[in-house]
Amino acid sequence: MNMSAPEALLVRYGELTLKGANRVDFENVLARNVRLACAPIAPVRLEREHARLLVFPEGRSEAIARRLTQVFGISSISPVWGAPCEPEAIVERARAVLEDALLSIPPGETRTFRVLSRRADKRFPLSSMELDRLVSERIVRDGQPLRIDLDHPELVLGIEVRETRAWIYARRDAGPGGLPVGTLGRAVCLLSGGIDSPVAAWMAMKRGCEVVFVTFHSPPYIGESAKQKVMELVRTLGRWQRSARLYVVPFAPVQEAVRDAGAEAYRTVVYRRMMHRIATRIAELERASALITGESLGQVASQTMENLACIEAAAGLPVLRPLLGFDKQETISRAESIGTYAISNVQEPDCCSLFLPRHPVLRGQVAVCEEIEARLDVGALVAQALAGAEPHNLGWTARGAKVRA
Ligand code: ATP
Ligand code: MG
Repeated sequence: MNMSAPEALLVRYGELTLKGANRVDFENVLARNVRLACAPIAPVRLEREHARLLVFPEGRSEAIARRLTQVFGISSISPVWGAPCEPEAIVERARAVLEDALLSIPPGETRTFRVLSRRADKRFPLSSMELDRLVSERIVRDGQPLRIDLDHPELVLGIEVRETRAWIYARRDAGPGGLPVGTLGRAVCLLSGGIDSPVAAWMAMKRGCEVVFVTFHSPPYIGESAKQKVMELVRTLGRWQRSARLYVVPFAPVQEAVRDAGAEAYRTVVYRRMMHRIATRIAELERASALITGESLGQVASQTMENLACIEAAAGLPVLRPLLGFDKQETISRAESIGTYAISNVQEPDCCSLFLPRHPVLRGQVAVCEEIEARLDVGALVAQALAGAEPHNLGWTARGAKVRA
């Protein structure tokens, strides 16, 4: 039998249930984020009950199920078919869902299988185990490519008995996990065109942080295509949250001034300190309370413990470094899975390659940075950079989706 499209998508959100008093806030933000993410595909109706969200997808269930794999806070998604809360009706529906699932097993192969039910409504006449057994006995027939295995089933026919309806499914897609974006505040990410900082931004989003992006760009030394590349990264990252705001900050005047101040070995560290000062000011404008960078430990000369300390000393906010414990290969794998690697991997010069020191300092000292900066007009350079900063809104919500949050 060929099944009709699923009636709803059952969305599970693991970690939220642990958050006690904040749970209602988390659920509200998750529901808003789901509605926003789906809006450009189809308007969806949501129902909330017992640590689950039911999304009614108005016929676009595949596209919406796929889109939900980019909504943080969701642990898994199942297309579901409904039945009245009554054993016979559940058996009939379960049989049809199973027949449909069997169609995707290639001829000659078998799958280990079990029925797994959960009762949110304890008034239901059968226990979960009794319902498992009843449904299994009634729908599994000889000749089907199934072998019962209660402990490690490859195929699970799931049943969730709720107050008004039972929901039946045979598929469970993994969600991205994490926490709903927006529940843990806002931060500004210093985004280069490299591989690392986009992954760092994604990891902060995954932990519920809404990210605003800042990139430093040095025309006329560095061409327009380097800026376009960063914009493309922001569009890709913006799929994971509701906004994608990027400030492009002109950085050549700062770099020229630092070059002219001497102490060549310290150039990169002083550039970074200036970036952190400017990013702190943008964070204040954006009501963000931390900075994020793609720094790790020991990956390049500027990322020794001493140099990170010099850089951080110039920031007016906490600096989060989500990649601290990552090897380069781990960062690359993550960049591939989230779709930023192919963009980052196109070689474009970064502004930091300008006036590159021949022998960069490895163990920088804050006092030396301050001596160099005493020869600059730091306040004026920061103000000039902020005045020239261009804000761009690059998100999918900015491209015309009218949604009710
Ligand atoms: P990435 O791959 O993110 O460029 P990286 O390993 O190449 O990182 P660096 O080039 O030393 O390391 O940069 C360290 C961090 O400084 C970056 O991860 C980013 O957060 C920030 N950064 C560097 N260049 C820029 C830039 N042009 N604009 C904004 N932030 C930058
Ligand atoms: Mg870089």
